[in-house]
Amino acid sequence: MSYTTILQVNGIEFLENEPSAAHVSMKAGGIIRYFVIPKSAREAVHAFSGARLVAVRAMILGNGTNTVFADSGFDGAVISTKELKEITVDGNEITADCGALLSRVASAAADASLTGLEFAHGIPGSVGGAVFMNAGAYGGEMKDVLKSVTFFDGSNVKTLSADKLFFGYRESDFSKKGWIVLSATFSLKKGEEGEIRGKMRELAAKRREKQPLELPSCGSAFKRPEGHFAGKLIEDAGLKGFTVGKMQVSEKHAGFIVNLGGGTEAELEEIIRQITEKVCDKFGVTLEPEIRIIR
Ligand SMILES: Cc1cc2nc3c(=O)[nH]c(=O)nc-3n(C[C@H](O)[C@H](O)[C@H](O)COP(=O)(O)OP(=O)(O)OC[C@H]3O[C@@H](n4cnc5c(N)ncnc54)[C@H](O)[C@@H]3O)c2cc1C
Repeated sequence: MSYTTILQVNGIEFLENEPSAAHVSMKAGGIIRYFVIPKSAREAVHAFSGARLVAVRAMILGNGTNTVFADSGFDGAVISTKELKEITVDGNEITADCGALLSRVASAAADASLTGLEFAHGIPGSVGGAVFMNAGAYGGEMKDVLKSVTFFDGSNVKTLSADKLFFGYRESDFSKKGWIVLSATFSLKKGEEGEIRGKMRELAAKRREKQPLELPSCGSAFKRPEGHFAGKLIEDAGLKGFTVGKMQVSEKHAGFIVNLGGGTEAELEEIIRQITEKVCDKFGVTLEPEIRIIR
């Protein structure tokens, strides 16, 4: 890597000019001004507060599977959680650090014959990103299995049980209030390991069959509008394969926008704009992007 240390706050070294495309699944976007990969939750909190101390905008990045940075870059600090990945199993509960991948947490559940996280096995995000988004698939959502979340609210580290937290469709207290998820505890049920793994295999096969997993994307580009499916509306608007530059409405699943190679964030914004306009003209339904573009 080619970055140089330029800033030290709260004892944390921030690195300079990191290409964001290397850290997001869409493989597009500009340069991040300051970048840091904390080794502990404490360091993450210090990095976040430290950035604010020097009046720099700060944001947390999980596995980057729902995020794209503007081509013009992000003039602030990005705190990557990729090294915060401990997972511990205690009876029917699993506690995972915010950077742990959901696939690993779900595998740990299967190893311990715990059922409930099968739906999450194929979601490529981190625990923090998934709690923030209240990620879900195949009838399951994070909030169904969360027992509690430990987080930093900008001043203090707190733990709240999930029933004291707000979770909606692809939103949560964390997305609304900017709180940082440090770890999460999942409450699961005893199951049969073979059945749990069988369910994971079945869902993985469905994904492979329906989704363009071979190309960079952020998964579903749009939220599900009430009473409709975004992918079906886009397909029925004749937009399968519709392309702007190197960004394309997937030929395999119209709900996905894929990067054909070298696509830019500007092309992504433009294709989102055109899809939204065309679907609205044809069906009177306003699509809302699920992809988070950071400017
Ligand atoms: C092929 C593919 C399939 C997908 N399938 C699904 C699916 O079935 N269901 C689904 O819901 N999503 C799906 N997604 C989207 C994505 O994986 C989820 O939204 C996931 O929860 C994002 O997690 P992440 O760690 O990658 O988040 P990131 O993209 O890193 O971040 C997303 C948002 O969360 C915030 N964030 C990240 N970590 C933290 C933290 N520790 N504390 C506070 N905020 C944080 C970020 O600031 C950002 O605003 C898919 C994506 C791809 C590429």
